[in-house]
Amino acid sequence: MSNGTHYEVLARKYRPQTFAELAGQEHVSRTLQNAIDSGRVAHAFLFTGARGVGKTSTARIMAKTLNCEKGVTHEPCNVCPQCIEITKGTSTDVFEIDGASNNGVDDVRDLRDNIKYLPSHSRYRIIIIDEVHMLSTNAFNALLKTLEEPPEHVKFIFATTEPHKLPVTILSRCQRFDFKRVTLPKIIGRLREIADKEAVVISDSALALVARKGDGSMRDSLTALDQVLAYCGNSVSDEDVGTLLGTVDRRLLAKLSAAVFSGDTQAVLEGIKQVDLVGYNMRQFGQELIEHFRNLLVIRSVKKPEEILDLAAAELDELRAQAGSMPPQDIQRRLTLLIKADSEMAYASFPRLIIEMALLKAALLAPVIPIQDLIDKIKLLEAGAVHTPVLPWETGRAPAAPAAPLSRHSEPTHSLPQHKSPSQTPAVVETVPVAAYPAGDGHSDWGRFVTFMNQKRPAIGSILEHGSPLKQEQGLIEIGFPSDSYYLTAAQDAEFISDVQSLAAEFSGVETTIRIRSIMSNAQGTPLSLAEKKKSDLEQRMEELKLEVENHPVIKEAQRVFGGRITDIHSC
Ligand SMILES: [Zn+2]
Repeated sequence: MSNGTHYEVLARKYRPQTFAELAGQEHVSRTLQNAIDSGRVAHAFLFTGARGVGKTSTARIMAKTLNCEKGVTHEPCNVCPQCIEITKGTSTDVFEIDGASNNGVDDVRDLRDNIKYLPSHSRYRIIIIDEVHMLSTNAFNALLKTLEEPPEHVKFIFATTEPHKLPVTILSRCQRFDFKRVTLPKIIGRLREIADKEAVVISDSALALVARKGDGSMRDSLTALDQVLAYCGNSVSDEDVGTLLGTVDRRLLAKLSAAVFSGDTQAVLEGIKQVDLVGYNMRQFGQELIEHFRNLLVIRSVKKPEEILDLAAAELDELRAQAGSMPPQDIQRRLTLLIKADSEMAYASFPRLIIEMALLKAALLAPVIPIQDLIDKIKLLEAGAVHTPVLPWETGRAPAAPAAPLSRHSEPTHSLPQHKSPSQTPAVVETVPVAAYPAGDGHSDWGRFVTFMNQKRPAIGSILEHGSPLKQEQGLIEIGFPSDSYYLTAAQDAEFISDVQSLAAEFSGVETTIRIRSIMSNAQGTPLSLAEKKKSDLEQRMEELKLEVENHPVIKEAQRVFGGRITDIHSC
């Protein structure tokens, strides 16, 4: 890079000399160029915006454009004496004043005397006042007189980072341009150009670190690059940049967020240890983590995150991969924990512990079940359409059989018997997994048998649902009904029995005798009827749902905030 004793800082060496070179302020360049092309150039401009975004550079380019010997065109030639003098700061017709140090009324009076005269050898006398908000009130008043009746040959260009400190009388006489923070991709692009010209070997990710250090200011980014080059020479490693600029390696952030998402507490603590070892400020690290999680959240929340996030394309892709399909709510909850930790760290003398606690908590968070999903489940349940694991019949309440496929024949029966109990659940019939029954002929599968009945003769099926399968053998089915129920009466009807017998023969392919028995209701050891089983499944499922609701973070938070408890669960 520097081959002599004199090293010119990059910000000066690569100061933009044309509108085309001005990165990130295209809206300003275009308007100014249009004004020049159409010959409607205002006599006073106000350039506002953060430091290092190109306000003074633009003022100089504008001055050159107006005074260039090649004529007023929308780019200066940069080779004529006028252009060269302005670049060097030696033009006798362009005055560059620092408002911070020349802020008195005498300075402005001198200036006013000065601009009375015609330019010596250019078109305009151009006054550039940087940090114009620093002028004293008297100086502003003196300036205002000139601004009210400006000589034809004078142009003012004011620059400020704090336009709200300017008197409205000044503001109203200027054409105002708001300079933006330069976006990260634009800064990286410019840094890449410069690195190539300086024959510096540096990775894109290292350039991104440098650019981020500038926080939207091109000048600060270039200063950071100066610093890196001074330390590393022409070959720059990512690690050096991280150490030098005190920026956490992005890979470490990625590693930590991955550890949090996968609940890997070991990796979480190791990551923090690593950060601590390089002597990084814990609070600042926490803030970088916050930004990182915020980026992930934006990526998972909007279709076009690139319009919101100030990130290089490669970084965006990387973050997309990290965010995966993580629900935004899950990221948001972790972000909340980190933000809370940040405010705690402001006062604590053990910031590492706080960030460790926050990240461990974040790693151990249970995934969010959207409350709507729970409500939907409850609705389905109420409609009787939820499949719950089915228990074997014979043993009543034995553990569920291993996952057997469930199929559904949802045919609500409308032709129910007249003496149907009003509390009876709608007859949506489930086939019960075959594996849940002891192996044998078709009759041993009580659930399938009742389903078959329901399909053939809903009226018969709905009665059988209340029967307990006492015996199922080849050619014989014994069904018990509670002695005090009217299902027993209905089932003892001769016509009913003969109908069931013929349907049973159809079902199994053998002649089958149906025997109806009266049993004690709730008697120990009696297999459950389908209706009883549904009821018990429903109760069990409601218990599970209640537990799910109770453990839902939103509910927990609500209980914590309002100090309530769950009394009932309703779906609406
Ligand atoms: Zn020129």
